[in-house]
Amino acid sequence: MKAVLLTGIRQFALKEIQTPAIVNDTDVLIRVKMVGVCGSDIHYYTTGRIGNQVIKYPFIVGHEVAGIIENVGKGVIGVEPDQRVAIDPTVYCGRCDQCLKGRENTCRNLKFLGTPNQLGGALCEYIILPETSCYPIRDAMTLEQAVLTEPLAVAVYAVERAHLPKNASIGILGVGPIGMSVFHVLQTKKIGNVYVTDKIQQRLDFARQLNPRWVGNPEHINIVAEINKLEPLQLDVVFECSGDPEAIAQAIKLLKPGGFLVLIGIPEVDDICLPIHELRRREITIINVRRQVHCTQKAIDLLEQRRVNMDTMVTHHLPLEKTADAFELVANYRDGVMKAMIVID
Ligand SMILES: [Zn+2]
Ligand SMILES: [Zn+2]
Repeated sequence: MKAVLLTGIRQFALKEIQTPAIVNDTDVLIRVKMVGVCGSDIHYYTTGRIGNQVIKYPFIVGHEVAGIIENVGKGVIGVEPDQRVAIDPTVYCGRCDQCLKGRENTCRNLKFLGTPNQLGGALCEYIILPETSCYPIRDAMTLEQAVLTEPLAVAVYAVERAHLPKNASIGILGVGPIGMSVFHVLQTKKIGNVYVTDKIQQRLDFARQLNPRWVGNPEHINIVAEINKLEPLQLDVVFECSGDPEAIAQAIKLLKPGGFLVLIGIPEVDDICLPIHELRRREITIINVRRQVHCTQKAIDLLEQRRVNMDTMVTHHLPLEKTADAFELVANYRDGVMKAMIVID
């Protein structure tokens, strides 16, 4: 089969490699049709690592996938060949303390699609995953929407973890695909004012589609002063979706006493200093979000029921052969890119 291998920093090679085969009875062979380019893939592309997850080349990235089931193992009961599926890229053991507590996202033996030392990714024609990762979708759902269920599931999970009070005043710092997904999920809830920041003007314009009370660019204005003017009692919850240490500092200054800081963005640095007395005196709760757990079907339902419509978020489609172009586009935020999809035919 054809596969796009990451062979170095900012280097891809299109190669012919062996098509994977079903080994375990619970395995499913999936023909990959579409792969979304995610911010975490870009971290691997530009720096070769996320924290201590370091790539050994060559490696296949990509974890936002939709496809068609090609074949199933003997023990598979929930899905069958020719079904179109959305994918939960989490492969968990089901036996460790974390799995037994329903925390499969922090499974001690976690294997996540397209993650170094865990599982090769989806930028190829076929992948093998256990049945538990496969979610059949209705005919009305497009493959694009199926791919978007992955980032949307992260947003559903983040909003669940935030324990929003009624009419919460909310900040979203960073409105790339994850920040926008959070915004979409919030719109299905009873919330108060939403304040949005991003360093990229086009992203702020994009976020305006969802009617935030205010948008601002921290490169040009003091966003903390501006938001505090409009919301003197400050914000109940801030979703930090950029990974930028400056944004984390801003988030802390935006929160009211007892507020919740939800960290979703992936920082490029390993350590970040936090103003401990600010956090302590105002009892700010920091909630970390590790991808998602049990939210894939919820994300599918939101899209199928049209309670969330993210169709305009997909700005680019490129063939597998042009994967490098797609990654450069996303890495450099060029051409108004929000979500780029690799299409495999
Ligand atoms: Zn992702
Ligand atoms: Zn486990």
